[in-house]
Amino acid sequence: MTTPTAPTTDRSFFGHPKGLGLLFTTEMWERFSYYGLRPLLILFMAAALADGGFGFERPQASAIVGIYAASVYLASLPGGWIADRWLGLRRAILTGAVLITSGHLAIGLSGFVAGKPFFFLGLILIVLGTGLLKPNISAIVGDLYPEGGARRDAGFAVFYMGINTGGFLGQLVTGWLGERVSWHWGFGAAGVGMALGLLTFWLGAPKFLGTIGSDIVRHPDAAVQAKRESTVRNGTFIGLGVLALVFALAATGMVTLDPQAIGSAMTFVLVGIAVAYFAWLFAAGGLTGDEKKRTAVIFVLFLFAAIFWAAFEQAPTSLQLFANDFTDRQVLGMQVPATWFQSVNTFFVVLLSPLFAAMWLGMAKRNIQISSPAKFAFGLFLAGLGFLIMLFAAREVVASGGKVLVSPWWLIMSYLLQTMGELFLSPVGLSSMTQLAPRRYVGQMMGIWFLATSVGNLVAGLVGGHVDPTKLDQTPTVFLGTAVALFIATAILAAMVIPIRRMMANVR
Ligand code: GLN
Repeated sequence: MTTPTAPTTDRSFFGHPKGLGLLFTTEMWERFSYYGLRPLLILFMAAALADGGFGFERPQASAIVGIYAASVYLASLPGGWIADRWLGLRRAILTGAVLITSGHLAIGLSGFVAGKPFFFLGLILIVLGTGLLKPNISAIVGDLYPEGGARRDAGFAVFYMGINTGGFLGQLVTGWLGERVSWHWGFGAAGVGMALGLLTFWLGAPKFLGTIGSDIVRHPDAAVQAKRESTVRNGTFIGLGVLALVFALAATGMVTLDPQAIGSAMTFVLVGIAVAYFAWLFAAGGLTGDEKKRTAVIFVLFLFAAIFWAAFEQAPTSLQLFANDFTDRQVLGMQVPATWFQSVNTFFVVLLSPLFAAMWLGMAKRNIQISSPAKFAFGLFLAGLGFLIMLFAAREVVASGGKVLVSPWWLIMSYLLQTMGELFLSPVGLSSMTQLAPRRYVGQMMGIWFLATSVGNLVAGLVGGHVDPTKLDQTPTVFLGTAVALFIATAILAAMVIPIRRMMANVR
């Protein structure tokens, strides 16, 4: 195994190692392309043929987007496994970047040739590529700080700012190009962003990362190691073969896939995968007693993260519909597009991340230690407040019989609270995974972390559709239900903070 050899004294990127600058930039471009493409997908697929779209029914288009988003994060699990056992973090990231760029290229080309097959092929390539890139680039950030602790948390806070800078710019630029100029200009812009990310990593990694992430943790017995690698390789090729077959059957019209049915079944599959994975890890993962305890903590953090994301990922569903149907969007005599509300969260992350990074370091200096489960409980509570606020906004709408458009400040306040919650949970969760996971499982544990997002996205899609001007009374129920679920989760987790802290051994 290559032990992470980061120069801990290197502070050339805002007080952090140079390597963080490289990972920040690569992930910024990857998220630029992801968040740039996502809001365009539903609009494009649902747009009429005459407007250059596919003319799909809305629920169908929305289910496809849900499946796509859930698959992107689900792919992190095999992506982490492939990196841990076969490719190593660095090669996995690079391969991922190549696949995502090719995916965008295919989507770009779909404007000229083989419309639907190229479009869906592009989405599949992005799913596979993101699975290889996203968990592993997050895992490698941890390697820059072999000493762990508050500096690693602060590093993840800076990295998270990169994610959201990309998200913010992507939503503005590609959204504007896609809606105002043409779909394919928007798609193209997302692709150019990802190509820049690929170039950055390809050229920069040898220079800025040294040997970090260039090799895997090998089993001391060469025969066992060879067998492990061949299992992963075969598994990967069988998986790709099945995918290619399904794709060929669907593209030639020999089978018809029903996105809505697949979407609802997928939630159960995802939860089943998580349970089966942890069961396998405990039964056959060769974990020591201490590692088992830490893995149990990861499982708890996974569950509560899934609850958090099921609320948070309602941004493009229930909250987007609320912005669209019930919010007064007149500013200086101009109607602001509803999709602009999508950028409020990423904007707040960029604004608040430095404060959070400083807060973690400041607290560490004063020797104040808050464990990650306690931070998660704060995060859930703040998100709960965010949805409670929306309950009042929704009541105002219902009281007027749906005639009054409420102030945009309700949504902005809600996003502010949710973003604060996110900053207590998401970068902290990334950092905790790298500290809790046994070194040889770090990519896969990141995969598990993103599986929580995958579940959250699907649930948010299923719940979030119930904001509808024709069924007014449902809206407060969605927000109340979400807030109550978050508060109950807060209370349960708060009660577990002390026992969990004992299980974390010497990790905070
Ligand atoms: N917005 C963050 C990202 O894109 C977090 C996503 C998530 O895990 N739900 O990485």
